Amino acid sequence: MSYDQVVIGGGIYGAFVSWQLAKQEQDVILVERDSVASGASGGPGKRGVRAGGRDPRSLPLAKRSYQYWASLGEELGADIGYERIGQLEFIEHSVPEIGPTSIESARSRVWLQRQHNITTKLLSAEEVTKMESNLSDRVIGAIYTPDDGIVDHTAATRGVAEAARREGADICNNTEITSVEQNQTTDDISEVVTTDGDTIKVDGTVCLLTNTHAAGFLEKQFDVTLPVWNFTPQVVLTEQLDTVPFTHLVAHSHRTLAMKGTEDDRVMITGGWPARWDSNDQTGRPIPDQVEKNIAQAVAVYPFLEDVAIDRVIADHQETCSIDGLPIIDRVPGVDNFFVGTGWTGHGYAIAPSVSKLLAQWVLNQNKPELLEPFCLDRFSSHDQTFL
Ligand SMILES: Cc1cc2nc3c(=O)[nH]c(=O)nc-3n(C[C@H](O)[C@H](O)[C@H](O)COP(=O)(O)OP(=O)(O)OC[C@H]3O[C@@H](n4cnc5c(N)ncnc54)[C@H](O)[C@@H]3O)c2cc1C
Repeated sequence: MSYDQVVIGGGIYGAFVSWQLAKQEQDVILVERDSVASGASGGPGKRGVRAGGRDPRSLPLAKRSYQYWASLGEELGADIGYERIGQLEFIEHSVPEIGPTSIESARSRVWLQRQHNITTKLLSAEEVTKMESNLSDRVIGAIYTPDDGIVDHTAATRGVAEAARREGADICNNTEITSVEQNQTTDDISEVVTTDGDTIKVDGTVCLLTNTHAAGFLEKQFDVTLPVWNFTPQVVLTEQLDTVPFTHLVAHSHRTLAMKGTEDDRVMITGGWPARWDSNDQTGRPIPDQVEKNIAQAVAVYPFLEDVAIDRVIADHQETCSIDGLPIIDRVPGVDNFFVGTGWTGHGYAIAPSVSKLLAQWVLNQNKPELLEPFCLDRFSSHDQTFL
């Protein structure tokens, strides 16, 4: 077997990059050790696809992705459950146990997002309470990003993989890549090797888009360290309510809180303390104390939640975090035809369309897109030669 492009990992990144490459007449194989959307790009509920509150270097990618998300369902011919519901990032009076907050910093955030043409408004308490009821009276305003939305990540990931297949990509599930072989002269990857010892020959490039498994792979075979670690979010789901008492994505300027309503009228609380990952059975175990802390953050903003029962806590999907909260998207050092993308830090789904398009472009024309420059691995090295 020989392919122009070998893509490892069947999450949103692997699927999207495969699709883009296949559209450019490339002979592509997507290799997934389990099934498409079995990692962070799958699972219950919907993912927030938002620009609000993101790092300035991610904002151009989030802005571009807004457009792509809006038309993706139609392009795929699939229902991906995308809805532009807008995000409210609440601002409260300063909270002693959490620290100061200020309308001034919110003004700067609004300014920053507008610099990137992201529609953003600073709302007063009065304006917020017209949009959402049941709020704590400690809320003094909100940053509103109306173009933020939600998407059914499992459906979108599968839809994109299916589109890649229609364009001619081979999708190979239940196949794990355990190592790669390098050309003795050029150091380029010449083959990837599966658990069964089968090999796939590489004529062009390899993209390692295995999220939580990328760093271990590179450390083991290339002695390359990525400053990333795996994180297990706790997703808290309430009992079913008559109606979810808010309609926007909920975030907070200084609490670790994210909330959404689900299609079956539950409140989904995320964004806070993590669960423990059990590597024996490859699943997360919620930590009761930390679940309480997550709920307390939500109750502080929506006091009625105090009286709502928790139905379940899900912790079965991991995500990779990087030391500076930004992804690493780069060539593997010393190997010209090997690309890696990981360290999405809980924000990877939102920017996946724009990043994947740019990465596919880079793979094909070998010129690094400027918008991906902030995510290079070299950013962690000191450029100050003074004390060397
Ligand atoms: C609970 C939770 C909530 C989140 N909420 C949001 C949100 O609201 N907004 C947002 O933007 N982002 C969110 N994220 C982050 C987002 O989901 C991820 O950043 C994104 O899905 C990562 O996509 P990926 O393709 O890189 O990785 P994954 O979807 O994890 O895919 C990687 C794939 O690689 C496969 N694989 C691993 N090793 C190998 C190997 N050796 N050979 C072959 N295949 C291999 C895995 O099986 C997996 O399917 C959330 C993540 C979690 C877990």
